[in-house]
Amino acid sequence: MCSIIGYSGIKNAAPILVRSLEKMEYRGYDSVGIAIKNDSMINVKKDIGKVSEVKNNLNLDKMSGTIGIGHTRWATHGKVSKKNAHPHYSNSGKIAIVHNGIIENFQQLKSELKLDGFKFESDTDTEVLVNLIQKNYDETSNIKETITKTISKLQGHYTFLVIFEDGTLAAVRFHEPLIIGVEKNSYYISSDVLGFIEKTDDAIYIDNENFVIINDHNLDIFDFKGNSIKPNITKVSKEFADVYKGDYAHFTLKEISEQPKTILQAGDDARIEEITERISSARNLYITGSGTSYNAARISKFLFSNFAKIKIEPIISSELPFSPDSIEEDSTLIAISQSGESADVLDAVRIAKKSNSKILSIINHPNSSLSQESDSVINLNCGPEIGVAATKSFTSQLVILYKITNKICNKCMNLDWDKVSQCISNVLKDDSNIKKLANEIKEITDIYVLGRGIHFPIAQEAALKLKELTYIHAEAIPAGELKHGPLALMDSNVYVIIINPDDETYQNTLNSANEIKARGAKIIGISNKNNEVYDFWIKIPDINEELYPLIEIIPIQLLSYYAALEKNTDPDYPRNLAKSVTVK
Ligand code: GLU
Repeated sequence: MCSIIGYSGIKNAAPILVRSLEKMEYRGYDSVGIAIKNDSMINVKKDIGKVSEVKNNLNLDKMSGTIGIGHTRWATHGKVSKKNAHPHYSNSGKIAIVHNGIIENFQQLKSELKLDGFKFESDTDTEVLVNLIQKNYDETSNIKETITKTISKLQGHYTFLVIFEDGTLAAVRFHEPLIIGVEKNSYYISSDVLGFIEKTDDAIYIDNENFVIINDHNLDIFDFKGNSIKPNITKVSKEFADVYKGDYAHFTLKEISEQPKTILQAGDDARIEEITERISSARNLYITGSGTSYNAARISKFLFSNFAKIKIEPIISSELPFSPDSIEEDSTLIAISQSGESADVLDAVRIAKKSNSKILSIINHPNSSLSQESDSVINLNCGPEIGVAATKSFTSQLVILYKITNKICNKCMNLDWDKVSQCISNVLKDDSNIKKLANEIKEITDIYVLGRGIHFPIAQEAALKLKELTYIHAEAIPAGELKHGPLALMDSNVYVIIINPDDETYQNTLNSANEIKARGAKIIGISNKNNEVYDFWIKIPDINEELYPLIEIIPIQLLSYYAALEKNTDPDYPRNLAKSVTVK
């Protein structure tokens, strides 16, 4: 979602803030702004658009002062406009704020503040918050008291940074991320380690329900009751320092191309062992995630029941609060999230914890909120994933689920990871056909993806990639369901991708392909075996049949990427989407 960054130190703040916002652009946003405290006052500059555009138009990085805050907004309250962009001043102009999240009771607070004479220029919940801070500061003249008083009135999830005219910077964390990079004479307060990793790898991961006050190079941390908390400086893991595209045109292509390596790093044996024991002794087993992570969760149902003979129930995280079969007492919930910050997944986990369930998490960011909420964590170890559309994190999630399955079934599967890595490399090397197909589909408006059994969740992941990267309407269909409705959509304008490796689903899926072909639609076969029904054949290498899901998604990631280029859309930052979805 949005990014917040603050700087307090001895260097010029503006270029640092702008650079950090550029590094966190992947998180998704619609407008940009910074506030800098100079000798006499706080200056704010902001507008809608990309960081580089706003930087050039407003000379953002030329502002002068050594203390500042910056923000990229992902609008939740009020449309995308300059007046709604952050930072927001309080009425006095002596306080400015950037905020990530939602103040749920902002309307009530706004009415109360209006009665006190406060005026509002924007439609945001954030401007209400900064004026509440001003009101409390006017009453107490004490920043710590101002913060504790303010948070006692707030409902919702939020992290915010406030800059006061005396040069104090305060940062508050409630269910949204907040990390501080520490350097001699400098503090970087950020939503993401990428905001400061170029400067320092010493970090303080601020706990939930804590706040920070930085003044005159001193940093103090408090819990929400106002008790002092000792800062704990740790090193950011070195994988997360790799935030450069290198020779790749886009992060998305880089991340797709890293998969032969990243699948070999997923999950360490000791954690797999520990999690497996917990799963084997679980009473009721659930698995949850959002988007791509949910598609990985659905794959686990096939793996666990086919090989481990264990029942597991996948639930979409955002649906879990409304699920009719709520989680029974003493269950076990596996939560999957690349960022470990996804609000829907965190919510699902909190619901499960209320019924005394154990939480086992599969995460890429080891110090995330989800890892703090979990009884056991297993890491993807795939390095930062900047492209908004998940690619390498998906295959790493699958590898972990395969490894757990294989452990439970006493190595009943033949998992040759070097061979998988080699097969992925072969698909990546031989992409000329995929590029041709990307050019062919660039004008179409609808595409369908068919799969059966374990290949249906892959079809769903394929449709998700096509939607996210190309904006083409893409829909996954369980192959057998065609004749129960979707066949009505098939005509000569339609393209259908058939996921059809040579396994037990092969012949039935081929029959579906023929039924579609008879209605004039174009068939794209993804298979290790060619067939005359395919108008396009995307060849995947032969491998043990249980491992095909890990291979067959690769050409679709590439197709989505190349089709995005053909359509001149930005594959790294699809419109309206954000990487780490920290609001509900
Ligand atoms: N709710 C705030 C707004 O709409 C902050 C959104 C964000 O997290 O970027 O401005």
